[in-house]
This record gives sequence, C-alpha cells and structure tokens, in this order.
Amino acid sequence: MRSFNLRQVKLRSGEEYRDEVELELEPFELGGERYLPVPDKVPAGLVIQKASTGTVFELGFTARLHGPCFRCLRDTVLELSIAATEYQANDPQGDEELESPYIADDSLDLSAWARDALALELPDKILHSPDCAGLCAVCGKDLNDEPHTHDELAADPRWAALDELRGQL
Ligand SMILES: [Zn+2]
Ligand SMILES: [Zn+2]
Repeated sequence: MRSFNLRQVKLRSGEEYRDEVELELEPFELGGERYLPVPDKVPAGLVIQKASTGTVFELGFTARLHGPCFRCLRDTVLELSIAATEYQANDPQGDEELESPYIADDSLDLSAWARDALALELPDKILHSPDCAGLCAVCGKDLNDEPHTHDELAADPRWAALDELRGQL
C-alpha cells in the first residue's frame, strides 16, 4: 500500500481508528552506497486519532536494511524500529506546522512518510559492528580478519638515510 484513503475513516472527536497496513519501502542511498529494505514490504500499525482541533496520525513499523559496511564494505544488516507521528489541524489556515506534508486530497502518502521517518532514524554511518576496524589504508586488507600494522619506520626515507650514516661510522 503506497497511500491510505482517509475517506474510508469517519471519526468523531475523541474516536480512534487502528489498522494494520502493508508498507512498500524504497531503497536508500547513504554515503554513496545503496541500502535495500529486505523485505521491501513490511506490516505497519496505523493509528488515527481525532481530536477537537485536528487529527493525530501514528505509524509504527520495523525495517531491515541490507548494504555494505561503511568502513570494511562487508554485507551488513541494520534493523530499525520506527515510530512516527503526524498532525493535521482541521483548519490549518496556511500554517505549515499544523499541516502534514503527507496528506493531500483525503489521501495519506504512506510511502513518503515511511521513507522520511526511516531516513531520520538512520545513523551517520552504517557499520557491520560498532567497533569495525575497517580496511588497511596501506594494503587494503580487512583489518577485522587480519589485524596488522605496516612497519612505517622501514618505509620512512629519513630512517633509511640514518641507517646509511650509521653504516659509515
Ligand atoms: Zn565493517
Ligand atoms: Zn595492510
């Protein structure tokens, strides 16, 4: 379900409507990498509460994103629990704060709402483990599998020159 027809819900003030809807999630781009929701269709709880001045919408779901670890590129799964709330005043009078951007013509845009709610929950960097060691900057090997350092002293030309001097003594 990409959008929910609000005409099917007739609520009076103080009344509440609860439904389970199936969301269609879209792939994400983050840090130049692509993350796929698996599965891309997830069940979500939708709650609509009518108050005297407006309507409160709540959407709750769990999403699993698959994609590369930001540091070591190995396949990573990120599970996020989303709880989002929107408010739509009966008479917003042009005030954007009182108007949900996902409601137009008695239709609630579930796809756009779910996408934005998910984006807000994403970490800055998706890591396969919080202490991922990443890839070696020198040789490119995975430091999680093969922890190592390179002997930088040997590679430093200043030390090589010093060794040469020592040899002359
Ligand atoms: Zn990693
Ligand atoms: Zn290395």
